[in-house]
Amino acid sequence: MRRKLAAGNWKMNGTPDSLAEIEALMRMQAAPGVEILICPPATLIAQAAARVGDHPIAIGGQDCHPKAQGAHTGDLSAAMLAAAGATHVILGHSERRADHGESDALVRAKAEAAHAAGLIAVICVGETLEEREDGRAEQVVTRQQAGSLPDGASAANTIVAYEPVWAIGTGKVPGTDDIGAIHGAMRAALAERFEDADEMRLLYGGSVKGSNAAEIFAVADVDGALVGGASLTAQDFSPIVAAL
Ligand code: PEP
Repeated sequence: MRRKLAAGNWKMNGTPDSLAEIEALMRMQAAPGVEILICPPATLIAQAAARVGDHPIAIGGQDCHPKAQGAHTGDLSAAMLAAAGATHVILGHSERRADHGESDALVRAKAEAAHAAGLIAVICVGETLEEREDGRAEQVVTRQQAGSLPDGASAANTIVAYEPVWAIGTGKVPGTDDIGAIHGAMRAALAERFEDADEMRLLYGGSVKGSNAAEIFAVADVDGALVGGASLTAQDFSPIVAAL
């Protein structure tokens, strides 16, 4: 049985005042078997983890460097995130692929570093609008997934998030049939490579809100969501958690 996951990606948003949103989520009673993950900016990871304490809400990073340490100004290693209290790290988000030219090979190396540090990698894949309109969405997503997941990936250390680039922050969401087709193709490709593919969690991400979460979560092979804008406040995020 795959545990459901509502993951929030705060991106470059949040100050110490924002930790009140995590405290509000802590007061929420999530259904049994539903996990919550909040990935604040790196500056807030330690404070967020301290506020969460023993509560099951997990805290994650939004990126890590593939190397364990060294002369990489401004970067953070996976072990640094873990030491600050993170248990997860988002890797290969389309904004990093676009803004920082991250390739599948780099994302894969980062995932290996995350696993070595004991972090669960939340690896993002997704097609652009042009690729979808060309009929290449499934091909692009499965190619990114194949290239970004290391051989050591398993259900215990890896979650894959399907995030169509054109759906992120736009209010546009693919049809549930489209989401189901991509998630089905992703799981079939995972099954060819990983023994525990049936146990690996696949998230959908891209303009998930309280108003559309339930229909997205009803799609086969959707095990939860990676949420950007609607994860910034407990008011917006809690209906998504409740829909799982
Ligand atoms: C994201 O950036 O991972 C995301 C899904 O953003 P939004 O929910 O705002 O579309």
